[in-house]
Amino acid sequence: MTVKVKQARDKQDRKIKLPIFFVYISLLGDKEQGMVFAGTIFQNNGTYRLGRGIDQSSRIGKAMSFLTAAVKDTTILRKYNVTFQHEGRCCSCGMALTHPASIPVGFGPDCLKRKMQDPAFATMFKSTFPDFKY
Ligand SMILES: [Zn+2]
Repeated sequence: MTVKVKQARDKQDRKIKLPIFFVYISLLGDKEQGMVFAGTIFQNNGTYRLGRGIDQSSRIGKAMSFLTAAVKDTTILRKYNVTFQHEGRCCSCGMALTHPASIPVGFGPDCLKRKMQDPAFATMFKSTFPDFKY
């Protein structure tokens, strides 16, 4: 499954990121549909809304409920042995990741160092990637 996520931004001040994520999903073996707008995840209340024509009982509907649950509690990912692989760009600054250790975590060394100064981020990161080191 390939997931693309776009974070919503404030309409007045485009620099303000909103806790709203537009999710596009492509399922393995589905060459007909390709990337489908699966729906919207609302991070602040942990809910989601499926895209038009997406049924909750469909594979994409189920993927959305899984992703929303994983946003709330990342330990679910380990429970189901799911990993996220990035497309090779830093989640923070968008630059191409060149260090091999950066690719699975999705942050370049400088951005990761900066992000780790936030204790909440550091706790989440260490629980998600317990064996990480450069
Ligand atoms: Zn970066």
